[in-house]
Amino acid sequence: MPRRAKIHKRLTDDLWPWKFIDCREFPSDINCTITIMADSVDELVAAAAQHAVTVHHHEDTAELRDGLKRLIREGVPPERLGG
Ligand SMILES: [Zn+2]
Repeated sequence: MPRRAKIHKRLTDDLWPWKFIDCREFPSDINCTITIMADSVDELVAAAAQHAVTVHHHEDTAELRDGLKRLIREGVPPERLGG
């Protein structure tokens, strides 16, 4: 039993540091369901800004990046809890 608990802890430690943005929470014209994940805020905002520009035709501005930062959540995205 203790060994099992240890494995479980290691798995959650692996999953925990993720920061993610769920695009469903971002106001958009299309029903985008993508979740963007990274382990640093800068990476995540850069990837999300790129996504917003290419998919949602936003302009890559400081305001956009501010808005994206407000959508960042920490923890395990629902998609990764299934298995
Ligand atoms: Zn999107």
